[in-house]
Amino acid sequence: MPLRLLPPGMTPVRLRAAQRRFAAILGADRVFFDELDRETYSDQFAISPDSHVPIGAVAPESVEEIRAIVAVANAYKLPLWPISRGKNLGYGGSAPVLSGSVVLDLSRMKKIEVDRENGVVLVEPGVSFYDLHDYLQTNDIPLWLSVPGNSWGSVAGNALDRGVGYTTYGDHTSKICGLEVVLPDGDLVRTGMGAMANAPTWQLYRYGYGPAWDQLFVQSNFGIVTKLGLWLMPRPESMMGLELNFDKPEDLEWAVDILAGLRREGLLQQAPSIGNWLRAAAVLTKREDWHDQPGALPDSVIAAIRRKFQLGWWGTSVRVYGRESVNRAAISAIKSAFKGHRLMSMERTHWVDGEPLERSAWVGAPITFPMQNVGWHGGRGGHIGFSPVLPANGRLAMEQFRQTYARYKEFGMDYQASFAMGERHLTNVNAILFNQDDPAMMARIHPFFRTLVADAKARGYAEYRAHIEHMDLVAETYDFNNHALRRLNERVKDALDPNGVIAPGKSGIWPARLRTRRRR
Ligand code: ADP
Repeated sequence: MPLRLLPPGMTPVRLRAAQRRFAAILGADRVFFDELDRETYSDQFAISPDSHVPIGAVAPESVEEIRAIVAVANAYKLPLWPISRGKNLGYGGSAPVLSGSVVLDLSRMKKIEVDRENGVVLVEPGVSFYDLHDYLQTNDIPLWLSVPGNSWGSVAGNALDRGVGYTTYGDHTSKICGLEVVLPDGDLVRTGMGAMANAPTWQLYRYGYGPAWDQLFVQSNFGIVTKLGLWLMPRPESMMGLELNFDKPEDLEWAVDILAGLRREGLLQQAPSIGNWLRAAAVLTKREDWHDQPGALPDSVIAAIRRKFQLGWWGTSVRVYGRESVNRAAISAIKSAFKGHRLMSMERTHWVDGEPLERSAWVGAPITFPMQNVGWHGGRGGHIGFSPVLPANGRLAMEQFRQTYARYKEFGMDYQASFAMGERHLTNVNAILFNQDDPAMMARIHPFFRTLVADAKARGYAEYRAHIEHMDLVAETYDFNNHALRRLNERVKDALDPNGVIAPGKSGIWPARLRTRRRR
């Protein structure tokens, strides 16, 4: 085993002893400490391939096994990095922040309990979107999922990292209702109404009594989630929508203002994402088909690509779900909100129960084709996201777009971005597409990313989610009262996890023992 990968304070002899204890709990076939295992659990879209390498992985199948593993981790001060399915591509995949951590792979825990009448599900971490979709179909359960654009991952892991989907249930983390968690000391808790043994309301009422803890285990390293309750959408009578294309970059301003108003009003309950031409084009074609020079794409090439695929500079999709009569009225009201503005195109979509159902994210069918965008540059592709949260305001969105687009050009990168409309905010997801086999391009990623973070910080904006490489950088921008939130997080961390064994460094939260590892 490579010595450089040993976690802080660990010796090869002690690590081997811990491995033997893991094997005694799980059997040797669920303990993975070979070179190939390390590679498999590393980040497949790595931007710093040597910085986040796990020493190995273990794959428990039950809560009791997890508790036994946590006891070993505490005895040896060996950090664990819990993953559900480890498909968090663009944010680190299954790889840990701290090299030498042991990946706690929960992908074999696949229990699904659906409460059909109440429209809720309780899933274990290993349940993928495909698993749950198949389960609902096979058992003819009239509930729809909300799936992310790349639906390879798990229902639980996605909600725990604040992933999003496209239906009215698309803010996944807001649909969490009740967790079961193994704490860093091995204790087992249930949150909300689950704190009462056998409560039939665990997945029905979020808060329980006293402080509500669900969100404390989201994007955090305070525990290992072993069950997650989630609300699902009752299969609607109809789904209607609009496909909108906008011709000019400046159209972003009024498009945001119109959609923001519809969201605040509540007429539009799903979060439309306004994406630029490359978001659509990168899954349809490759850069080399159009241009063979480095640097940002010239406007003439952009125009040619847009022409070929009939793409707006920006495009978005809007959907409403529910009663047919209500949807008809809602869609015509939404349509009329765009009156007086010149759209490149506007098409209606229409589905009512009884008609064949499309297989798309709009109806909660898992999809993976958006991942095609990693092929844009050729070679071993990959991407990371830079996703600051903005007010839902057209002028501010336009300013952010102008500044970011100029930075993409300055660093010779192709601009792929979207603005997703929350109820009161806008998430500006900028994808940075790269080719891991192009050293010159890879050398630009870090300075580029740091510049984007600094630009956003100067405007008072920060990211909602970060790649393992940037967790400290992003946490650093949350600086009110000299990082009071970080101090609070780390006081809680130290109280719950005195040996610092669960996901050190996750979201910039370090246990006392490893705090010197924080990157400044
Ligand atoms: P997915 O496979 O759904 O894309 P991951 O398993 O990669 O999701 O999880 C995303 C991130 O969320 C992980 O890196 C990890 O930090 C955290 N996470 C995932 N599952 C758990 C869990 N069961 N308990 C605690 N944290 C988790």
